[in-house]
Amino acid sequence: MHRLPTAPLRPLTALVTTALLASACATVQTTDSGAIGLERKQYFAEGAREAVRDAAEAYYDEHLEAALAEGALNADPAQVDRVVAIANRLIPHVAGFRPDALDWAWEVNVVSVDEVNATCMAGGKIFVYTGLLDTWQPTDDELAAVIGHEIAHALRDHSAEKYSTRNRNSAIASGLGAILSVGLAVTTGVNLSNTIDGVSQISAEAFANLPNSRELELESDRIGLELMARAGYDPQAAVSLWTKVAEQARAAGKEGDGRFWSTHPSDASRVEDLSRAQPLVRPLYEQARAAAAGAGAAR
Ligand SMILES: [Zn+2]
Repeated sequence: MHRLPTAPLRPLTALVTTALLASACATVQTTDSGAIGLERKQYFAEGAREAVRDAAEAYYDEHLEAALAEGALNADPAQVDRVVAIANRLIPHVAGFRPDALDWAWEVNVVSVDEVNATCMAGGKIFVYTGLLDTWQPTDDELAAVIGHEIAHALRDHSAEKYSTRNRNSAIASGLGAILSVGLAVTTGVNLSNTIDGVSQISAEAFANLPNSRELELESDRIGLELMARAGYDPQAAVSLWTKVAEQARAAGKEGDGRFWSTHPSDASRVEDLSRAQPLVRPLYEQARAAAAGAGAAR
């Protein structure tokens, strides 16, 4: 989702850039701690979170239209139903971390493209690619782990945080290019890149190919783990998923290959941490299962 095409110049981005160039910075806690005990403070350039959100919304329709034109948008009803059902079980539980996210205009899409990827844009626009479903063959619980992880990136405004950190630590050549790329970084890109043309490719790539740090990845893993547990998906499936995926990649001699891996660095610490966090979320899973069983019995 992050190897990006060039981007069109738009009035929106000009406004956004002005806001950012005039920016101060702020340390923010985007979410509550949850059962997983998340305490990390986040740094954002002033206006960055809003800018990323606006840019994501501005590009969303464009990407949907492009996928539709290619016959790739939500083409398989069975796959769409499955992904939507899992996402819809997860989404209500964002309230435990970030109540305002309940009001996001959540949308869930499956794009038919042979690429292992999934994303959740700022503001709650979820994409899952059929390449991920075909290659990883996830169970429902494992797919919940993937989607929960991506939702976590959005809840924590990680795109805006990466932008802010980058902007603070080094001179980005162009503020405009950077913010354009922020917008694109949280959209899907994929094979839709040929629909976008314009300026700032260098800046866009400079930002968009920034990987999530291990810290952001582990944090998203943990939030995703709690979301899935609260939704009644077995949190142990997060461990089985990443173990399976790592084995698959090793067997194929492609460890670390592909766009998903370019932005989701993986190593043994991921599986270790997900295993370590199980006791924190297991009770939530058991409660969710009991509640579901109770509701079933009461019917
Ligand atoms: Zn990630």
